[in-house]
Amino acid sequence: MRRPQEKEPEVRTTQDLRKSLNDSLEGDIRDFLINEAELHTYDDLTKVNPVTPSTVLKCLQARYSAKVFYTHAGCTLVALNPFQPIPHLYSLDVMREYHSAPQPQEFKPHIFIVAEEAYRNVQGQVEPMNQSLVVSGESGAGKTWTSRCLMKYYATVATSSQKCQDTVEKIERRVLDSNPVMEAFGNACTLRNSNSSRFGKYIQLQLNGSQLLVGASVQTYLLEKTRVAFQAPNERNFHIFYQMMKGATEKQRLEWMLPLEQDFAWLPHAEKTLEGKDCTSRICILKHESQFYEEFEELVLITVLSLSMLCAGFLQKTAYLLQVPLDELQSCLTVRTLRAGKQSVLKPCTQSECGVRRDCLAKVIYAQLFDWLVTFINNSMCADNPTWCNFIGLLDVYGFECFLLNNLEQLCINYANEKLQQHFVAHYLKAQQEEYVTEGLQWSFIRYQDNQGCLDLIEGSPSSIFSLLNEECRLNRASDAKQFRVRLQKELSDNASISWDKLSKEPHFTVAHYADKVSYQIEGMMEKNKDPVPPEIISLLQKSQDSLLHSLFADGDRESEGSRGHSKVVTVVSKFKNSLESLMKILHSTTPHYTRCIKPNPDCRPLTFKKEESCRFIVHGLVSESRFGLRSGYPHLSLTGPEMSDQAVLGSAVEDVLNVVFKRRAPNNNNNMVHCGRTKVFLTHSLLEMLEEHRNRV
Ligand code: ATP
Ligand code: MG
Repeated sequence: MRRPQEKEPEVRTTQDLRKSLNDSLEGDIRDFLINEAELHTYDDLTKVNPVTPSTVLKCLQARYSAKVFYTHAGCTLVALNPFQPIPHLYSLDVMREYHSAPQPQEFKPHIFIVAEEAYRNVQGQVEPMNQSLVVSGESGAGKTWTSRCLMKYYATVATSSQKCQDTVEKIERRVLDSNPVMEAFGNACTLRNSNSSRFGKYIQLQLNGSQLLVGASVQTYLLEKTRVAFQAPNERNFHIFYQMMKGATEKQRLEWMLPLEQDFAWLPHAEKTLEGKDCTSRICILKHESQFYEEFEELVLITVLSLSMLCAGFLQKTAYLLQVPLDELQSCLTVRTLRAGKQSVLKPCTQSECGVRRDCLAKVIYAQLFDWLVTFINNSMCADNPTWCNFIGLLDVYGFECFLLNNLEQLCINYANEKLQQHFVAHYLKAQQEEYVTEGLQWSFIRYQDNQGCLDLIEGSPSSIFSLLNEECRLNRASDAKQFRVRLQKELSDNASISWDKLSKEPHFTVAHYADKVSYQIEGMMEKNKDPVPPEIISLLQKSQDSLLHSLFADGDRESEGSRGHSKVVTVVSKFKNSLESLMKILHSTTPHYTRCIKPNPDCRPLTFKKEESCRFIVHGLVSESRFGLRSGYPHLSLTGPEMSDQAVLGSAVEDVLNVVFKRRAPNNNNNMVHCGRTKVFLTHSLLEMLEEHRNRV
């Protein structure tokens, strides 16, 4: 049960042991097995006894101080962000060591154990099985870093040793090269992380019958496109804009009509230098890394530039770069077409409406460009179907969010986390529960929070927050936050997961998520869900002479304002719900492995662990996972011989055995330490360890 390098908790004598057991049986939750000096040696949080937020935090802190960054929590791996490079922890030698070990799980906890376990599972003893590695955690916790590390691992171990395999080599490079390109377009410096991913992603690494990496594909979720036009104070725009500003050569500057960067008020904090992110050579590196994208510089960068010009207010340059007529660009930004039946009336926009239209144009181009980039990357690295037979999927999604002000973005993100939590529960706990039912045990001793009620509230039918938001959108009436709140209250107050703070002046609703309660402001939520694009903008872009831009909008498949009321409107939440549903389908068809990344301090300071303030949500999650989602649930002893017809007889037999072992009253079911099934006796980890301890000493 115990990993070889792990030290025993400090339980010296049988007397101590008995006392410990006694304390536990009295229900006195004291840290009886915790010896502070030894805490860092616990490589699995399920062995910390009792498992409480405080003991889990203490253990993680002790390990962090001892520079041990990975810890198991039953079936989950916890990764603490060191916020500084740790020499040799991820070297090729270490990768090979984990890869070649007969039992890598006996090594110290490491992300490579998870990587290797998935790699071995995918080969399958009986039949191959696709795998998913789900990496979660708050912003700055290390999800993207971990995903990159996993990709490097597979690019190293899942490749042929015969270097003549040209295509395989190229694929590894392409898969790894896609990272910086996607990060340039999808990441930005925020208050929480200087390289924050502003989108979620699921990468499938495709393996052939010989377990070699032959391709990959990526699916992205919910790009924060508003960032193109608006950045919160002290935050920046997407990296790519700064890379272009700082990396352009003199020749490019002239060619692209690039003004000096101080002209760019919309590119805040350009003076900040982000290590490795926007140094002057970055654009060259980007081009080098993306050398397989022939069209890259020609099309993508010029489109990005046109956005720069647009946002900076250089309309003439924008029209030139977008290759659209200047007068049409101008009128599309300043005049609204109102339609009444077959008649249409032109109405000049107010100054603020003009600003909204300009931002909308920038956002819609950027979002389409990003999707195009993803498709382009996929085309360049996706293997032909017959070549690959299995995949390992890496999911890097935004963790649970709870800010001072929360709106539609947080609702979508937290909804995604609820879905993942449900998946976790379904996978580990329901399987466990079925076993207990088969064993004839009342499984109520496993208490876990079922979040179906919360999911019903958000996405259920006929009435839910999403359905009501969509209805507002379909009705196409002016959004009124107060009225919407009344509707929510009328339709959804039966659901226990929603509540209202009576003292709050702003219209809002509060959702009790599995991780914590979050209050969402309603103001602006309906408009965000509609995400309207004036039809004039779409028709302008369809006229572009620039081949990329033209192709982005040629199909006109993006719903625009004009289509409202006629065809079905694709709202933000519907789109997100659909993409999440397909993701969940994939996850359900794979064997999942969970890694929870923890940000040990809010300021990203190296080797600094600030307990409660940064780890609140995740630790609560971990505690329940550690208590119930044990590597194989409650460890059990299988009984040989015929099935016990009478569990009471078995129960008293077990009690007798424990009485002999501990020379006192044995633990009983009331204390949830022993449960007797038909063919198995289930023990808690702590009791099992006590028994092992006892056996070692007699
Ligand atoms: P976001 O949700 O904002 O995208 P994230 O969880 O993806 O955040 P990362 O960008 O992966 O966070 O990590 C933030 C920073 O922490 C990295 O840029 C890196 O400097 C550091 N970091 C993360 N993990 C490690 C690690 N294992 N070793 C060293 N540094 C790390
Ligand atoms: Mg990230």
